[in-house]
Amino acid sequence: MKTLFVLPPQWYPMSPYLSAAQLVGQFKKNGLSAAARDLNVEFFNDMLKKDRVLDAAEKAKAFCDEFALEIEKEGYREENFEQYSPMIKTKLMRYRACTEFFEGDIDACDVAERVEDAVAALKTRERFYDPEQLFEAKDTVIDALSIVSLPFQPSKIMLDNFIANPVYSYDYEDIKLQCNDASLNMFVDYFDKKIKAEDFEGYGMIGVSICDLSQIIPGLTLAKYLKERTNAHITLGGNYIYKIRESLKTMPEFFDIFCDSVQVGDGEIAAVRLAKAVMGEIPMNEAYSLIYKNGDGEITVTETAPLLDMDALAPPCFDGYDFSQYLSADIVLPVQLSKSCYWAKCTFCDFYTGQQCFDIKSVKHAVDEVESLVNQYGFHHFIFVDEAVPPKYYNELALEIIRRGIKINFYSFVRLEKTFTKEILQNLYNAGARSFIWGYEAESERIMKILNKGIDCSQRKRILEDAKSVGLFNHCTFLLGYPSETPEETEATKNTIRNRALVNCCTPSNFALKKNAIMIKETEDAGIKNVTDNGDFHISCNYVINGNSTKNIKKDRMEFQHNFLKDNARSLWSLSFADTDHILLYLSKYGADWVRDYKLKYKKHNFTGT
Ligand code: SF4
Repeated sequence: MKTLFVLPPQWYPMSPYLSAAQLVGQFKKNGLSAAARDLNVEFFNDMLKKDRVLDAAEKAKAFCDEFALEIEKEGYREENFEQYSPMIKTKLMRYRACTEFFEGDIDACDVAERVEDAVAALKTRERFYDPEQLFEAKDTVIDALSIVSLPFQPSKIMLDNFIANPVYSYDYEDIKLQCNDASLNMFVDYFDKKIKAEDFEGYGMIGVSICDLSQIIPGLTLAKYLKERTNAHITLGGNYIYKIRESLKTMPEFFDIFCDSVQVGDGEIAAVRLAKAVMGEIPMNEAYSLIYKNGDGEITVTETAPLLDMDALAPPCFDGYDFSQYLSADIVLPVQLSKSCYWAKCTFCDFYTGQQCFDIKSVKHAVDEVESLVNQYGFHHFIFVDEAVPPKYYNELALEIIRRGIKINFYSFVRLEKTFTKEILQNLYNAGARSFIWGYEAESERIMKILNKGIDCSQRKRILEDAKSVGLFNHCTFLLGYPSETPEETEATKNTIRNRALVNCCTPSNFALKKNAIMIKETEDAGIKNVTDNGDFHISCNYVINGNSTKNIKKDRMEFQHNFLKDNARSLWSLSFADTDHILLYLSKYGADWVRDYKLKYKKHNFTGT
């Protein structure tokens, strides 16, 4: 039996995602046949075409003309918005978005003419490494995706996100409705045409990897078509699926419409075992970490898979990938050194949820893996996709890379541990590190203590100074609007963000109350009130802090972000959510000072932060 692992939209289409390649490698190691297909990158390539953009603009125009008559006839008014049905609300929001677009400066025909050339610019080295051409191409791609989204507004596909229609909730019934309605969800029509039974013949099992909220609607729409049109066992996996497992256990119908099973927890052992069950070698109830509906129509939850030994894992297998599809001139390959987080105590965090406990590959295993990927695929850029790697380990890894003379550049996420000495940072730079994404969070020590971040705040700026002095690019993530944060504390964090000499690139975000975070049991203590569920398929909750709603807190952050981006409009990446692979490629070519100091002549008009 052959298994296919697919990645659905929306995910960043710059480089391959790890999970499918990781599972293919693991299947091969176990003597099973498997392949991967990146439907996310296929989707972006299909959308970023002249005809798609023109067609969407025409549909949006036709909708406006038609709905303007309906508004006149029915007397719809913005001030009565809350009284209307979800469909009328959707149409009113769509009408507003389309009208604003057509009244704005962007000409859809002009974008359509340029979009394919923009994609070519992103994929061609001479053009990609010219920042003037790169940022113009990105603006064009962002404009094109906005136009492609117009007929489906207020849902919207972006390079770095998929925004679902806010009129509908993340509850099962609303998700089901959206996965069936081509007027609400662009993926219904897209996958209806894309998913042909003959393309999936020969696969006995298809795994759909859902790792983020942005993949829920596209991923479930895809899973539904795969279930309807193939004879394969459809299984859903990915870290996000684990986080919503309790909801899934209450929905027998979900297993009739969207999939045959869901895998919860580490898939590397469980997926292999599930393949054996699908082949009939073992009964289904002996598959690990599985939720499925048994022959009596009852939801069954099987035993959790044994602990994963990172050193027993096979390297990811990218055989058969069409690397030319990615929106990048060079590929950044993902490698995972560890599972979970070695700290795993931050009260707001749920990253490590679903990963049983921390384990890390031996340095030899990790460097062997990197070396074999370099030799096999010829790529020299890597992201270590770990939540955090201890400084001591990183130092040993760096020394081994240097000892073997492996020529690579890489970046990863790290904690601001005081044990990151200048010497370790220098070793990492010498081994090829060019950027670290540091979890800075909040300037206030009081807030950091409540977050239980477990770092010595007095050392943070020293670490960033040392990192800068050895040539590393400091990318920091920040948390704004934590419960009980005072305006002065928020301002202190904003001031750190504005210190561009030290914080070369920032990713600000709002505190979100996650269903699986430690602090969900301590909301009263944190002054969080009116906690309400965001829906079966959502991993965070709505709440109120000191009378301030999540909506207002987000509004404050968006305003700050917008002004910050305007003030730094000529910089390459003063703020970024999704461009980290591109940043690494630029750092590898030009160095940190050049990237930080470059001033664009091209006038960016999309300030989305990508
Ligand atoms: S925020 Fe980072 S360091 Fe803290 S528990 Fe989560 S992954 Fe670990």
